Amino acid sequence: ENLIDNSKEILSQRKTLLGKAMRLQYKKPLHIVRGWNQYVMDAFGRKYLDTVNNVAHVGHENFEVVKAGQKQMAVLNTNTRYLHKNINNLAKEILETLPKEMAVLYFVNSGSEANELALRMVKTVTNSKEIIASEMGYHGNTNATINISSYKFDGKGGKGTPKNTHIFPIPNSFRGKYRGENTAEKYANEVQLLINNIHQQNKKVGGFIIEPIISCGGQVELPKGFLAKTYQKVKNAGGLCISDEVQTGIGRVGKTFWGFQLHNVIPDIITIGKPLGNGHPITAVVCTKEVAEKFANGMEFFNTFGGNPVSCAIATQVLQTVKNNNLQENALIVGDYLKQKLLKLSKKFPIIRNVRGQGLFLGFELVNNYLQPLPKQTEYLINRVKDFGILMSSDGPDNNVIKIKPPIIFSKKDAQEVIFYLKLVFKENFMNSTKI
Ligand code: PMP
Repeated sequence: ENLIDNSKEILSQRKTLLGKAMRLQYKKPLHIVRGWNQYVMDAFGRKYLDTVNNVAHVGHENFEVVKAGQKQMAVLNTNTRYLHKNINNLAKEILETLPKEMAVLYFVNSGSEANELALRMVKTVTNSKEIIASEMGYHGNTNATINISSYKFDGKGGKGTPKNTHIFPIPNSFRGKYRGENTAEKYANEVQLLINNIHQQNKKVGGFIIEPIISCGGQVELPKGFLAKTYQKVKNAGGLCISDEVQTGIGRVGKTFWGFQLHNVIPDIITIGKPLGNGHPITAVVCTKEVAEKFANGMEFFNTFGGNPVSCAIATQVLQTVKNNNLQENALIVGDYLKQKLLKLSKKFPIIRNVRGQGLFLGFELVNNYLQPLPKQTEYLINRVKDFGILMSSDGPDNNVIKIKPPIIFSKKDAQEVIFYLKLVFKENFMNSTKI
């Protein structure tokens, strides 16, 4: 039944049934009916290698994870007002991966909810609403998280920077405000300016939020030393530092388990999202004891679904699968291998520039000789590699950054396949093609 292609009908129904603000990928949308490890399959039974889905962290429909969910689902699912070992087990499993300062957890259901709760913690603890965030940062789809997401309020349909939000230039050393080597100090000074500005308005600093590698902003690696400098400035001003690990967490960046650990800093709050449930909606907020104590000011935090036994069984299995199968190490080895191959490809095809990222969280830009972004060519490339069975995605302020963030079970053979088809498409010399 699954192999009957009724995509036209599904598409036309969707157009009338669902909100127009939702977007579909690809000029000719894909109708996916099955996932398996690093692959998905369309309604024609065609297999695609997936370099996009950083939610299917340990593989689409990973057998152990599916089994853990099914087993608990058949026994009990309820809320956190009853004792249950699953929630404790998951909390312990997460804390094992973190420095001892990060000590107390809350469970929620999406990255947006996690950041929303982190913002509430900041407000309760510091008594300030002033949030410092990066240009082109994205932290969620709720009111409060949209208000700190320049990616949204500075983009189509946005209304600019809201009151209480303070945006510093995206610390992109390739095409950002400050370029080249040693830009950390310069970008950190921009954050200091915002702190000064808040103080001049007789206000206090609330929080500082950033991803350890900025994803929607185009897989931007923070300049070396930037995070340590800014954390110090924010902490000196009495603010709290949030590391948004929704995309970078749980071994993906290879060298370290969490993104903030790449930068030798310790946040006050981290938010964990996408990969935690491998596709099942469970996310978490971890904070220091001090933050947790002050947040518990008498108002109950209740979340109907957050931390239920089924979600916790699933997430615990995800973490165990990462650990038992050395998937952080795999992300490091395969990620480094793919990065080297991409660098080699960029020598041959100079349209590819600034290959960057860590582990299996990589990106590169498509630009012309004058470093001008090439969004049309980027779109063409993504649609073209799809013809060869490779799913890729793009992002960044100019939509010219190819992002690579596959399930972290990705193999060297998969990396070779990606390189093979990228080369094939680049050889087609599509820069001047009439198809674009
Ligand atoms: N933070 C980051 C860095 C994200 O990439 C996203 C989702 N793309 C979110 C938060 C929001 O997560 P969700 O869509 O699960 O609400």
